[in-house]
Amino acid sequence: TSFAELGLNEQILAGVEALGFETPTPVQAQAIPVVLEGRDVVASAQTGTGKTAAFALPALQLIQGKKAPSKEPLALVVTPTRELAAQIDNVVSVVCKETGQRAVIVMGGAKFDKQIAQLEKGCDLLVATPGRLLDLMEHNHVSLSKVQVLVLDEADRMLDMGFWPSVRRIMHALPEKHQTLLFSATIPPSIKSTIDALLRDPAYVEI
Ligand code: AMP
Repeated sequence: TSFAELGLNEQILAGVEALGFETPTPVQAQAIPVVLEGRDVVASAQTGTGKTAAFALPALQLIQGKKAPSKEPLALVVTPTRELAAQIDNVVSVVCKETGQRAVIVMGGAKFDKQIAQLEKGCDLLVATPGRLLDLMEHNHVSLSKVQVLVLDEADRMLDMGFWPSVRRIMHALPEKHQTLLFSATIPPSIKSTIDALLRDPAYVEI
């Protein structure tokens, strides 16, 4: 399979080329077409499998062509650590250069003022750690009411780190109609019950 065969459009494919990727990894080959169909997805894939592009490429394609409103991201990636947020930003920023979209990253430890200013300028895709995101939501610096695609990255690590109640609060702040992509190396019971309660007939991708 090639990236083009997965249903990605020319601008996203230009992003793939800019990333230097030639052939999709197994998780990319399996997840991308299903995400583009609009389905919820549960994928068990660890770091190193190419999972970042597996969610970032189709998520950016799904929200293309809509203008990013101030403080109202169209897609949201929630990830447990600053390191992962920075890794995701590395992929997303390269693709956004080709698509003309805007990505913003918010995480603990970084200055609030700068993140608030970036959110105000408009944000297609927001990459966030849970605590900082809730903080910004509580102070009305960001609203999740326009989010069409939610990505939960390394869900099992968020659970281990005690972030699951925060993740569920974030999920309850989304509009009724949205798509959820959950990536997790394992599916412990609390994640399973969230999947059963909040995802709609998810497609399972296992590699
Ligand atoms: P990830 O699992 O998303 O953290 O990706 C792990 C590493 O694989 C990163 O260094 C990516 O740049 C690289 N990578 C991801 N997808 C591909 C691909 N299709 N071809 C070559 N390298 C890739």
